Amino acid sequence: MATDYDAPRKNEEDISEDSIQELQTRRSDKSSGVVDEDETEAAEGFELPGADLSGEELSVRVLPRQADEFTCSSCFLVHHRSQLAGEKNGQPICTECAA
Ligand SMILES: [Zn+2]
Repeated sequence: MATDYDAPRKNEEDISEDSIQELQTRRSDKSSGVVDEDETEAAEGFELPGADLSGEELSVRVLPRQADEFTCSSCFLVHHRSQLAGEKNGQPICTECAA
């Protein structure tokens, strides 16, 4: 599997082990990201019942939206109600997007 023999050294084995460990670390990082998909699906089940998420499924939001928060229909970020500037076409707009 190891194809990076372009820098032969005495401690090649040690180095290979290090890079394998590094790869494994990165891989577990990635797999934890994959697990998030399931968690997101599960979260959608009980988060925001009745809310239309069809336009927001690409968002990588992890925190569930709180009752005093809203999702801006322009930037799709979750803001606190204090940042609600108004509505456009019945959709909430944050102060940043309204400015
Ligand atoms: Zn916004």
